[in-house]
Amino acid sequence: MPLPESTVGALASILGTEAVLTRAEDLIPYSFDGTAALKQRPDAVVFPRTSTQVAECVQLAARMKLPIVTRGSGTGLSGGSVPVPGGLVLCLVQMNAILDVDARNLTLRAQPGAITQRIDEAAARHGLFYPPDPGSMRISTIGGNVAENSGGLRGLKYGVTRDYVMGLEVVLADGRIARFGNQCVKDVAGYSLKDLFIGSEGTLGIITEVLLKLVPRPASRKTMLALYDRIEDAAETVSAIVAARIIPCTLEFLDRMTAVCVEEYAHVGLPTDCEAVLLMETDGHPAVVADEAVQMEALARKHGARDVRAARDDAEALQLASARRNAFAALARRRPTTILEDVTVPRSELATMVGFIVSTASAYGLQIGTFGHMGDGNLHRDCRCRAATTRAVCPLTPVG
Ligand SMILES: Cc1cc2nc3c(=O)[nH]c(=O)nc-3n(C[C@H](O)[C@H](O)[C@H](O)COP(=O)(O)OP(=O)(O)OC[C@H]3O[C@@H](n4cnc5c(N)ncnc54)[C@H](O)[C@@H]3O)c2cc1C
Repeated sequence: MPLPESTVGALASILGTEAVLTRAEDLIPYSFDGTAALKQRPDAVVFPRTSTQVAECVQLAARMKLPIVTRGSGTGLSGGSVPVPGGLVLCLVQMNAILDVDARNLTLRAQPGAITQRIDEAAARHGLFYPPDPGSMRISTIGGNVAENSGGLRGLKYGVTRDYVMGLEVVLADGRIARFGNQCVKDVAGYSLKDLFIGSEGTLGIITEVLLKLVPRPASRKTMLALYDRIEDAAETVSAIVAARIIPCTLEFLDRMTAVCVEEYAHVGLPTDCEAVLLMETDGHPAVVADEAVQMEALARKHGARDVRAARDDAEALQLASARRNAFAALARRRPTTILEDVTVPRSELATMVGFIVSTASAYGLQIGTFGHMGDGNLHRDCRCRAATTRAVCPLTPVG
């Protein structure tokens, strides 16, 4: 149902007419996110540029009893930015400034619409590093990352977004602006309210500024590909590497179908004739990197890798990592509708789970590509949580 003219006028007086969309054709792109089969057209989409404008929109929506859904880039895979009926989408992509990099305190302040990759690039200009790197980092926003507590390819060693959030500015449901956390490394007194907002998927308030912790940029990195004829061998290599007290920054897995699709899409020289590919990357001091790379190669071979290849240079390493980031897009090219599931199991059960996916695909005549952060999980917490995340992508057409 269209919004009353008076409400549209009130929104325009806060934001300017160009920052308020109400025409059906303009609203369609904001009716869905990365989640298949969830769609709902909003009544309006607005683009605030300041925290005050966000607060004023929230106050207006509260008075008019208009539901608000906050949106970053809409890459979410859990439907969080899909509007509710009769709702207003508050899209923060125009609040995209990186406000400052404080190289003395190793922090970065940004507006919520700043693109994740831009944040790491800004840190890199100071020799610093923002490690969380969701596969979507070229388009996802930092506000979306915080709201989803996103992980990424480097999660095994560096953790997830929560581990880098030092402070937040948020607009609460009644339009008040609140600040939680600060630049102090030791900030232990009282409730950690910022942590409530991390992973809250926009349900508690709207994040309007983020203060992030940065770390020194690793001086060196080495990227390798291990190729397997048995998926189980790749899973066992992951366990063996961690058991050897090596925490690589990346241990990513692609099954044959994913590797074939990625290669067709990105042409990076991924092998397509093996059952599993493990993308392994270690970073840090050059001597440590060299030592770990030798050990990881030996462990991969010991656990059945038929070949282990090292990236020739940084450019090739980057190409391999971005090929992995493109796995979802590459698989999605197969069929018009693609369902992506995230599954987490204890690392020891990975081979069983992958085997189950393969047998399910064959029993129901589906094409399923499996890939993911094979070494990822809550290792930094306790051994009960030793878990790995794997994605199974199912282009929705029976194998022809
Ligand atoms: C190809 C691909 C690869 C991906 N890889 C990964 C991955 O490796 N790891 C991972 O964790 N996720 C991954 N994702 C999922 C997704 O990209 C992340 O969840 C990302 O953080 C979403 O950011 P966004 O800006 O697109 O947020 P949106 O999708 O717009 O929003 C996501 C949620 O955050 C809320 N939100 C957004 N901005 C704010 C804000 N400023 N204040 C309060 N709430 C807000 C929304 O209401 C919604 O609930 C991937 C998605 C795709 C399509």
